[in-house]
Amino acid sequence: MYRKSFIDSYLNNNFSFEEAKSEIDFVLEVLFDFKYKDFLLGKMLEPWQAAKIEKVIKERVSTRKPIQQIVGQAFFFGRRFFVNKSTLIPRPETELLVEEVLSLSKEFEQPKILDIGTGSGCIPLSLIMENNKITAHCVDVSISALETAKKNALFHNILNNIKFIKSNLFENVNEKYDIIVSNPPYIPIKEKDNLEIEVRDYDPALALFAYDDLGIEFYKKIIESSKGYLNSKAYLAFELGINQACYVKELLEKNNFNEIKIVKDFNSIERIIIAKIDN
Ligand code: GLN
Repeated sequence: MYRKSFIDSYLNNNFSFEEAKSEIDFVLEVLFDFKYKDFLLGKMLEPWQAAKIEKVIKERVSTRKPIQQIVGQAFFFGRRFFVNKSTLIPRPETELLVEEVLSLSKEFEQPKILDIGTGSGCIPLSLIMENNKITAHCVDVSISALETAKKNALFHNILNNIKFIKSNLFENVNEKYDIIVSNPPYIPIKEKDNLEIEVRDYDPALALFAYDDLGIEFYKKIIESSKGYLNSKAYLAFELGINQACYVKELLEKNNFNEIKIVKDFNSIERIIIAKIDN
């Protein structure tokens, strides 16, 4: 059994039992490689471990800072990534984007991929770890995000397959790619006050917000400039915000992309869009 005090700290601060349980599981695994079944098998936490967890939970419930930022790590596609206040916490929806790009990557002998707005690097790093023929170039405007992505690449021992470029979109990009992938900022700034505290106050604004009404400014910029950076048969792949699929599809069609595919997430939201171009 968990310590009742862990659960109670959450419940006393208006978190649900489900949230409490999943976050406690997460912290136990991240910090001490400890699984719930270990408790059932009679394994005990050392007092210093319990004290550490108690401290983390206290910060979590009193500040609403996301648990991943408190412990500085998150899981994505089954692996560990370092995160901090300069990087968006990887979301499960983004794993769908990785799955789609992985399957596209099989069409190329030595797939060369550009990730725009790489953040923690969770997308390109996961791609490389699933398909070691992939080479990825990772672009971000934030130096500290790039440093975090690099730290993750070092941690996962894949620095050879990867290059980091400080760039605002394509500004400092000079090569061509088989696939350009991006999970750009897509929340319209007018929605800021409707977000949960964890997102609004702790995820980096640079990673979240678009400043046009529909939240599609980055898709538009990427789509319109992408042709000079794509090989003759190539793909664009994006994660989308709610209700953006139709607008992004229109932009893709206007720019001569075809074979457009839209993938829904676990909540039936149109979340991923993929399109092909024959340059
Ligand atoms: N590529 C990173 C991710 O998907 C960061 C995306 C972003 O900051 N908008 O998590």
